Amino acid sequence: NAPVRVRISELLSEVLVLYTRRIAEKNLRVFEEYESSETVMVYPGEIRQVLSNLVTNAIEACAPNGRLRLRVTSTRKWSDSGVRGIRVSIGDNGGGISAEVRARLGEPFFTTKGQHGTGLGLWVTQSIVSRYGGEMQVRSTTAPQHHGTVFSIFLPTNMRPR
Ligand code: ADP
Ligand code: MG
Repeated sequence: NAPVRVRISELLSEVLVLYTRRIAEKNLRVFEEYESSETVMVYPGEIRQVLSNLVTNAIEACAPNGRLRLRVTSTRKWSDSGVRGIRVSIGDNGGGISAEVRARLGEPFFTTKGQHGTGLGLWVTQSIVSRYGGEMQVRSTTAPQHHGTVFSIFLPTNMRPR
């Protein structure tokens, strides 16, 4: 169980395969744009966990016949442009996130899904990403505008997880 160098787009497509059935049941269209083949040093299990948390949330947010958009790009850290790395963005065209929910994102056990949610997905995601020296960002809009949510995570190219 040692960190290994991986291509994030490969982990993401592996994770996506696990949800093929749920995506088909909801008849979601999936758009994938993998523009970076950069690699990062990670514990792959942790990053699979992060990606599957964000993918599940996006699937759950979508109405039937909705859309998922997955992107991987090379970029720089939002809070420190001297740090290079990759950004994974997971977007959906669901209902978006209200200001009330937004304020509580990442709080452990906070869920709007009643019995169907644990409220741990984003909390776990945030804690893993920060151990990598990374960052998570959320952009969301609600109806009546064009609505949806994009969660992005940044992971530095040259940082080993603690
Ligand atoms: P859970 O999915 O078990 O509820 P999470 O920590 O993954 O827990 O998410 C917490 C809450 O954040 C969700 O209950 C939901 O209200 C909100 N949320 C997360 N992702 C999205 C998304 N893509 N669209 C809308 N709301 C979201
Ligand atoms: Mg979740």
